[in-house]
Amino acid sequence: MEQNYYQKEIETMPVEDIKRLQSEKLVAQVKHVYENVEYYRRLMDEKGVKPEDIKGIEDLHKLPFLSKSDLRDAYPYGLLAKPLSECVRIQSTSGTTGRRVVAFYTQHDIDLWEDCCARAIVAAGGTKDDVCQVAYGYGLFTGGAGLNGGSHKVGCLTLPMSSGNTERQIQFMTDLGATILCCTPSYAAYLGESLKEKGCTPDSIPLKAGIFGAEPWTEEMRKNIEETLGIKAYDIYGLTETSGPGVAFECCEQTGMHINEDHFLAEIIDPETGEVLPEGEKGELVFTSLDKEAFPLLRYRTRDICVLSRKKCSCGRTLVKMAKPMGRTDDMMIIRGVNVFPSQIETVLLNEGYQPNYQIIVDRVNNNDTFDINVEMNPEQFTDKVSEILSMERKLGEAMKTMLGINPKIHLVAPKTIARSEGKAVRIIDKRKLI
Ligand code: ADP
Ligand code: ZN
Repeated sequence: MEQNYYQKEIETMPVEDIKRLQSEKLVAQVKHVYENVEYYRRLMDEKGVKPEDIKGIEDLHKLPFLSKSDLRDAYPYGLLAKPLSECVRIQSTSGTTGRRVVAFYTQHDIDLWEDCCARAIVAAGGTKDDVCQVAYGYGLFTGGAGLNGGSHKVGCLTLPMSSGNTERQIQFMTDLGATILCCTPSYAAYLGESLKEKGCTPDSIPLKAGIFGAEPWTEEMRKNIEETLGIKAYDIYGLTETSGPGVAFECCEQTGMHINEDHFLAEIIDPETGEVLPEGEKGELVFTSLDKEAFPLLRYRTRDICVLSRKKCSCGRTLVKMAKPMGRTDDMMIIRGVNVFPSQIETVLLNEGYQPNYQIIVDRVNNNDTFDINVEMNPEQFTDKVSEILSMERKLGEAMKTMLGINPKIHLVAPKTIARSEGKAVRIIDKRKLI
């Protein structure tokens, strides 16, 4: 298949050259941060590191980490590296883990962020002839703004739908012939379900590709969305702290996301010890922003667990690839002492023929963890015969036990009774109040 790139010279640059570019940018960025961000200067001074000690990417490990708690301590202006008069935008995290973080952008920062999103759209086959429906939330959340900007840069006709109002999404999609859909994977699945209910077959929908991210999703969910919408579904990754979506994006190989290494330097560390791990090992992803001006975080701990790979990619891009994050260090539930990720539960559901409409409820009764999963039956499976339901619940429970190592209590519920999400899905209700 012929490959298109948005910025070919960067996306296919020999690895040695990318590393040289990263080294040059890192040296300048450390200096910029040290001079302008008192908060980080203090962390560097405490560690006894001076900007002169950083001569290239091989010295990165000498720098202190930043974590979400630093962002909260420094809220709102403590990590700002440019005068506010040079900033043109703020965005904020979706607050999945409770407290929000605000990030600042100069026009240069917006430009590089939108370039990253444009690379993702082109890698998904987008061109100026496409109609790109952006159904990520607009506003403080980075999803809408990022993909909207990327879509403009590619020259697509952009439909700035924002999330929600599913009827209107479907009407615009069909009336205006949207060919690319950008939203969370859970909303894509919901749109697919709604289209199916209206009797739309994949062939009757103009879409050819989807760019889905902002939350974890499994390969099984990808297959499911690709089938119901009749598209190729591409992953996109990012976080507000590093700019937003577009830090990494998937190509036609669909085997992980290329990291935009000219802007973001990635490391994998052991989340317990902070030690940098060699390529191919699983650990916490850490990003250093190499050329953002206003909010240039160095060694920011994402808490996302994943693996990096430099295996040659058939798309021709040389940018390092990250695997799908398999959850966050703080997404992981420890139930009866066992680590459980929602992605494992989703995999079992899709393998057993259910839709990814579920909710996990964890509680603690008499010092014992209770673990319940509410799962929707598909309309075609639906029955109100108790014996049939019990037997389906038993079968699903056994499959969960095999995957997780512990036994959840399964409750099958009627189709359409679990609330749908228009943004990031809320999958876990943890009532244990352990903290
Ligand atoms: P938060 O959700 O922390 O409030 P953001 O809205 O910036 O803040 O979300 C960033 C987080 O979303 C990432 O750290 C990651 O956990 C998750 N995320 C984003 N894209 C993906 C993706 N493609 N796959 C899995 N997780 C993702
Ligand atoms: Zn590739």
